[in-house]
Amino acid sequence: MALTNLAYRGFEVWAPDIPKTVQHQLYGSFKNFKGSLVFGTKPKGWFASTWVPLKTLRIYGDGTRRGATDALVFLDFRSSVIRLRQVCKNEPRYVVELPMPKWVVERVREGGDVKFAMIGLKDDEPYLALVAEREVEPYMPSGYILVVDVNSWKYGIAWGLVRSGRLVTWRAEGPNTFLINTLYHQAVDRERVVGKLKRVGYGDSMKASRIRKQAKSRWSRIYRITRDKAYFLANKLVRKALKYKALLVIDNMTEESRKELLEEKLPPGVIKLLMSNLKRFVHQLETLAQWYGVPYRFERLYSTICPKCGHELTQVEGRVMVCGNCGFRAPRDMVPMHWAIIKLFGKNTCFKQPKSP
Ligand SMILES: [Zn+2]
Repeated sequence: MALTNLAYRGFEVWAPDIPKTVQHQLYGSFKNFKGSLVFGTKPKGWFASTWVPLKTLRIYGDGTRRGATDALVFLDFRSSVIRLRQVCKNEPRYVVELPMPKWVVERVREGGDVKFAMIGLKDDEPYLALVAEREVEPYMPSGYILVVDVNSWKYGIAWGLVRSGRLVTWRAEGPNTFLINTLYHQAVDRERVVGKLKRVGYGDSMKASRIRKQAKSRWSRIYRITRDKAYFLANKLVRKALKYKALLVIDNMTEESRKELLEEKLPPGVIKLLMSNLKRFVHQLETLAQWYGVPYRFERLYSTICPKCGHELTQVEGRVMVCGNCGFRAPRDMVPMHWAIIKLFGKNTCFKQPKSP
């Protein structure tokens, strides 16, 4: 990937075993590349794990053309196909035709463009990755603020819509934790059975391998559930920000949530699952915000420090946080929203803000 980046940014990259035409795209007008960077002692092994950037030629619905005329990746939006020239076989007229993915059409409709593509191996299969880019100026926030506090999946991702320093709505959303819990226990039970079979010498039996597969499918199902939820929520929240022309404020300090789960004495395996794909969520949220021009910033928002007086909060039944000093009381997921209001609207600033732990 690093090499791909270098090549795309105009640096010389000397990649062995690539068809000449492809090489020319990498080097552009560069003639004598013998003295350039040479990577790897085993060129083929290295090449297999490298992604090669290729220029693209785009023909849009109205017939306009953009891009390089000598491009090997040809995106034809009139007939909804992508043609790969010579890439899969080193013959000048060799063409592979692929259907145009729906998302590419959507991104282009939104004003994006696919200036380059990357080709490489994904799960040992040839893979063409199209890179959509869009230059967009963030809008001026309307006065609404959308606060997003990233928790663990157990308590979900909390979001709140704030207008003129007041919380309009707030919610915590996440996947079905009951289902995750069920799948987790089924997976652990099956692994235990496999362990038993192994100890009595049946570790390689048909039965053991079948149960092992069942356990594995449950682990990957849990992973998929949290991943899909991460994408779904990132999409939903960016759309919400767009609707209200809100400033997006994100707190991605997940350490606090991890601590909370540890205090509940959950097994490490469960904690790991409940924290999985949260980084992906934040990354997707940021990527979508950039794409759609949603102004955003990261802020540290506390859930265990009183937003009124700065005193430490104690948790009571029902995940309610209480301040022993000033009597402040709010659901745990709502405390960060109060902090966002203070930080952005400067309310209740009569005390010194605590330093980050
Ligand atoms: Zn207080």
